[in-house]
Amino acid sequence: MARVALVTGGSRGIGAAIAIALKQAGYSVAVNYSSDGDTAARFSADNKIPVYRWDVSDYQACVAGIAQVEAELGPIEVLINNAGITRDAMFHKATVEQWKEVIDTNLNGIFNMTHPVWPGMRARKFGRIINISSINGQKGQAGQVNYSAAKAGAIGLTKALAQEGARVGITVNAVAPGYIGTEMVRAMDETVLQERVLPHIPVGRLGEPEEVARIVVFLASDNSGFITGSTITANGGQYMA
Ligand code: NDP
Repeated sequence: MARVALVTGGSRGIGAAIAIALKQAGYSVAVNYSSDGDTAARFSADNKIPVYRWDVSDYQACVAGIAQVEAELGPIEVLINNAGITRDAMFHKATVEQWKEVIDTNLNGIFNMTHPVWPGMRARKFGRIINISSINGQKGQAGQVNYSAAKAGAIGLTKALAQEGARVGITVNAVAPGYIGTEMVRAMDETVLQERVLPHIPVGRLGEPEEVARIVVFLASDNSGFITGSTITANGGQYMA
């Protein structure tokens, strides 16, 4: 039986590439999204991957969504916590709402998704949790205090939870992408991208979502059983942690 993998925020961008790569690697894949039903429906039809709508910042919604996926596909053995948002502002202009939205989705979302699948993974003595962090959680980024805090939190969570999962066959790892050419990055001001971002990427280009997806497929596989608590970077040499 194919292992079941659930990708949060998988209807577009990096998550979509991860979902497609996992499917190609033989997993039974489910994708979660939060608001854009048209994009999710198109993704689902194009790739023959079922999509499920809920908000990862809502714990009870995660519990219900996970129960539905497990009822339809089977126990979730691989969880990719990919859903993420930005609400950028310099700190002196940032609002409480912007802070909370980003922490709720990008960090609390990881708790909300991982906590309900954890007991099943422990009982079955196998699990793969892969958290999508960010270069900006490693080095910090002006204008993204909320995002940097959430993404750094994801790395701390990964390390601590990896210690708890190690003896029960569960690995917990993070991937920290640099600037990847998705809507999140394309939404940036073009001048900022050209003048302030690209010159700092030694390979001289944005990354591709598939370049992150290939790391996730490796971390999900049986070949990566000795890797846990790690953060694997994919940033074109921009930051060597
Ligand atoms: P996109 O903005 O392209 O896609 C975000 C996805 O997350 C969408 O499927 C969206 O669904 C979903 N989503 C957003 N909020 C929620 C929520 N509350 N509950 C469930 N799903 C939600 O993002 P990227 O592909 O660029 O980024 C994916 C991950 O990679 C994020 O965690 C991001 O922080 C991280 N990352 C991205 C980098 C980049 O350069 N792009 C660099 C480093 C890290 P919907 O469309 O329905 O809203």
